Amino acid sequence: MSDLLANLNSPQLQAVTLPPVHALILAGAGSGKTRVLTTRIAWLMSTGQVGPHGVLAVTFTNKAAKEMTARLSSLVPINTRGMWIGTFHGLCNRLLRAHYREAGLPQTFQILDSADQLAMVKRLLKNLNVDDEKYPPRELCHFINAHKEQGLRASQAEVYDNYTQKRVELYAEYETQCNREGVVDFAELLLRCYELLQRNEPLRKHYQERFRYILVDEVQDTNKLQYAWLKLLAGGGAMVFAVGDDDQSIYAFRGAEVGNMREFERDYAGDNVIRLEQNYRSHGNILAAANAIIKNNRERLGKNLWTDAGEGEPIRAFEAYSDLDEARFVVEEIRELVRDGISPTQIALLYRSNAQSRVLENELFTKNVPYKVYGGLRFFERQEIKHALAYLRLLGNPDDDTAFLRVVNFPTRGIGARSLENLQATAHQTNSSLYNAAASLSGKSGQTVGAFIRLIEQLRIETEGLPLPEMVEHIIEKSGLAQHYRTDKEGQDRLENLDELINAAATFIDDEGAIGEGGALVSFLTLASLEAGEHQAGEGQEAVQLMSVHAAKGLEFDVVFITGLEQGLFPHENSINAGKDGLEEERRLMYVAVTRARQRLYVSCAQTRMLHGQTRYCVPSSFLDEIPEQLLLKLNKKAAPAAAFPAFGSFGGGYAEPAAAGGLRIGQTVEHAKFGLGVIVSTEGRGADARVQINFGGSGMKWLALEYAKLTPV
Ligand code: ATP
Ligand code: MG
Repeated sequence: MSDLLANLNSPQLQAVTLPPVHALILAGAGSGKTRVLTTRIAWLMSTGQVGPHGVLAVTFTNKAAKEMTARLSSLVPINTRGMWIGTFHGLCNRLLRAHYREAGLPQTFQILDSADQLAMVKRLLKNLNVDDEKYPPRELCHFINAHKEQGLRASQAEVYDNYTQKRVELYAEYETQCNREGVVDFAELLLRCYELLQRNEPLRKHYQERFRYILVDEVQDTNKLQYAWLKLLAGGGAMVFAVGDDDQSIYAFRGAEVGNMREFERDYAGDNVIRLEQNYRSHGNILAAANAIIKNNRERLGKNLWTDAGEGEPIRAFEAYSDLDEARFVVEEIRELVRDGISPTQIALLYRSNAQSRVLENELFTKNVPYKVYGGLRFFERQEIKHALAYLRLLGNPDDDTAFLRVVNFPTRGIGARSLENLQATAHQTNSSLYNAAASLSGKSGQTVGAFIRLIEQLRIETEGLPLPEMVEHIIEKSGLAQHYRTDKEGQDRLENLDELINAAATFIDDEGAIGEGGALVSFLTLASLEAGEHQAGEGQEAVQLMSVHAAKGLEFDVVFITGLEQGLFPHENSINAGKDGLEEERRLMYVAVTRARQRLYVSCAQTRMLHGQTRYCVPSSFLDEIPEQLLLKLNKKAAPAAAFPAFGSFGGGYAEPAAAGGLRIGQTVEHAKFGLGVIVSTEGRGADARVQINFGGSGMKWLALEYAKLTPV
């Protein structure tokens, strides 16, 4: 016991050992909030105040839930298996699986991830002959999700004009379609669960009596529905203990409200608000930079963070001339750090947009540095994996139209667009799933689609009773997927990924406790949609960690690189357009990024960047200006040839490719149709990637892609 409480500072100790009351721990990054929350659970259990059964803990990511569970089992000798520790989505899924009948769901209900949801909405619009330019599918998804996150069904949505009227009708159609297919999207998991508990008194009472202690990490990012869900569960007298930091609220775009935290304080915490002010994570300079950045936000509850860890190293800043140059710099530094004995798992590479990872990945790959990407194009989102999962989903639930359409003609079986249109029309008329409607197709369509249905039926018989990994393997082989990729010139990677899926299935069933209600297949498919990316190839391997800043919340690393610090990228242009609140949210995101670092922080930007197929000319992020000069160590050595990038005032470095590109050489004079005469000052890349930097005098300094620039040597 004393071991458990040793090393806590006094407000932490106070928080951990509070009597059975509601409480709110409001504190900055790295002050031990998560640690306090975990230790409180351990303390409650080891003092006999509650058993593992009586605790419900909400974490922000599955990774965090796992870490918390592991930490708990090291703190107290208990079986953590029965404990409800997870994300909102994970916990709701668990509850719905256990009570699928009461919730009006098929036992094997599948979860639609955002890509599946989008595909479904597109299909719906097509079936209903709705103009998708007038009602863009993405916006419609957003409309639906935003309503669900407010707890509103289509029948409850507010209608104020014809346009909204139509959108609400489409929302209603979407609901019907999901019910028919027996699938739920992410927001539905929560709403369905909330409604179930609200409607079903015996069930509600059962859980209200069961969970005596409810603990919530990252409470600043709960949305309205999540808050209502918690309130419902706590309605039987449970004690709610929440920890959060208003400065790290970064999900407003998904409906999270800092206001919930104030509401929380009013509803529950009362006098029990505890503040933690000592930061145990970061060295002084890093903390000073974080404090300097966040103090520019006006909407704050306000707090001070200090550390006694000493100043530590300065913050290293690098201005690259291109994204490639930035990637080279970063990877070179990483190699050096690893040579110096830093573990790659302790190095994080952060970016604002997932699209930025490609260049970094490329460079890491070329230089043979093992890395692991969280989020982005996740393992479970790759095309071949989704195909294989779609076959598996059809075995469990033939009514899953999304899965059906994904693979009905993949690999190709001669089923044309016309046949599918017929099929969709029939299904629509008879109000049945595509699978069921297939029987009533006649002619050639009837034959080809019929063959597909027989294939699925046959696969179902063949895999019955097989252990999960063998089932996955069988499906990959017999569906024709493996053969398809074997004959595909670029299929090797995909085949390897499919093998990795078999491995993932094997690891999954070895993981005691992973298999829940509904059996191994359903649990595995649930994992694939909820936990995408977190069970990736190479888990446990010593790899550099790549992720978006959003995904880095709550984590910490010895060394952190924040890349792409450019105006329009970070802060993101959407937020700049969204006005002050948007910018404040971006600044909180920057604060989250900076406070992930323990010992060393790198911040970098590039003058040009290829994004979404276009070269952008960039200006350094305004957040860089918010870091006090004296905390920075600028790594660029050469003097600036152009004054366009004042924030760093220096430019260049040893990372350019000295060789000439496309037959042009440095120092050569060239003519450009728009900018006129200029002199090449540097070049990089080769072939289609080749770019040159040209000083056009009055028209300034430009980076141009050789392929498009049409330069004439003079
Ligand atoms: P974030 O806001 O980023 O989620 P947090 O407030 O949850 O941060 P933790 O992750 O709990 O902070 O703690 C940050 C680091 O400080 C962890 O490595 C933790 O183990 C360590 N730490 C917390 N409290 C103490 C303490 N009293 N003594 C030593 N180390 C501590
Ligand atoms: Mg935390």
